[in-house]
Amino acid sequence: MNHIPPIDLARQYKHIENQVSVAVQEILTSGRYVGGLAVQGFEEQFAAYMNTSECVACNSGTDALYLALRALQIGQGDEVITTPFTFIATAEVITRVRATPIFVDIDPHTFNLDVNQIAGAITPKTKAILPVHLFGQPVDMTAIMDIAQAHGLAVIEDCAQATGAEWAGQKVGSIGHIGCFSFFPTKNLGACGDGGAVITNDPTLAATIRMLREHGMRDRYHHEATGINSRLDALQATILQIKLGYLDQWNQARSQIADRYHQLLQPLPEIVLPQETLGSHAVWNQYTIRLTQDSRSSDYRDHIRQNLQQMGIISMVYYPLPLHLQSVYQSLGYQLGDFPVVEQVCHQVLSLPIFPELSFSEQQQVIYGLKDCLISAAE
Ligand SMILES: *Cc1c(COP(=O)(O)O)cnc(C)c1O
Repeated sequence: MNHIPPIDLARQYKHIENQVSVAVQEILTSGRYVGGLAVQGFEEQFAAYMNTSECVACNSGTDALYLALRALQIGQGDEVITTPFTFIATAEVITRVRATPIFVDIDPHTFNLDVNQIAGAITPKTKAILPVHLFGQPVDMTAIMDIAQAHGLAVIEDCAQATGAEWAGQKVGSIGHIGCFSFFPTKNLGACGDGGAVITNDPTLAATIRMLREHGMRDRYHHEATGINSRLDALQATILQIKLGYLDQWNQARSQIADRYHQLLQPLPEIVLPQETLGSHAVWNQYTIRLTQDSRSSDYRDHIRQNLQQMGIISMVYYPLPLHLQSVYQSLGYQLGDFPVVEQVCHQVLSLPIFPELSFSEQQQVIYGLKDCLISAAE
């Protein structure tokens, strides 16, 4: 029996091995390893793909978010509204600039911020909204931009899991004031190491981000702010240039897999499937279902996961604990019960294998395996 991993990056590399080898050799023999044409070329190519005027590459998605907050001068005493259901980096950067993350509960069908609850969280200290397009599913950006405009707030989009996704015909990341991307290997556009980028249509913001990215320096060895060192390597940039050419094709393969899960898992009463919001184009970084049998503990889910694993199928849990209940944020004063939807969803979520190279027969194995597990758990 096959072993079916949640993602298999080696398979993807096989498709592009020759192209990547040539490009990497070129960089290695050029002797130019930091900056240079490869990085500049990738920035231009990524901005063109996103239909923005500016792209600044950096070392990670985390740095992209940090640089965005710094460029918007968000700091001590400021509040930023975000989701408690995301990877820690989203909130971590808010506390790193000494601002306060203000969490708002989620919509259980999209796993994204419940846009109807945002206005109620706005105070005179609120400076920005930081929505996350979780699992590749776009947030309702029309609602978010309306709220932001009405209250004079900045919008920073965390697109780490959603490179190529669209809301109302526009690429996510190009709708808010700043869009932040991660090129961590498991993301839809992944490097062979760490990488990230910021996009915007505001040239002044882009110039500030460039300055902060390079030790607060515009003119060589003249420093106007405390910056950081956050570079995208030339090697990663040249690999990303190649991979960007395949992104739409890979995202389409993900959509096809998601459609199939949707069709073939539809009639099962024990699970709720993720919904693609009308008018959006999701890119399915994860295909995450909810197990509804036991919503107060994770025991039922652990049992299903173990049974799947015995069949060689590796499922994942993103994320087991919402951010407002993490020990790092104890001092923020949140309590169990503050956000009932996310607290329940954390016990229910189960992410099934999805990656562009997953074969039909492997997917069938996952579907039959899951059905077996659900039936035997019910007996
Ligand atoms: C991966 C991720 C990040 C951080 O990106 P890195 O490149 O790993 O620093 C931020 N937000 C979300 C939602 C992510 O999934």
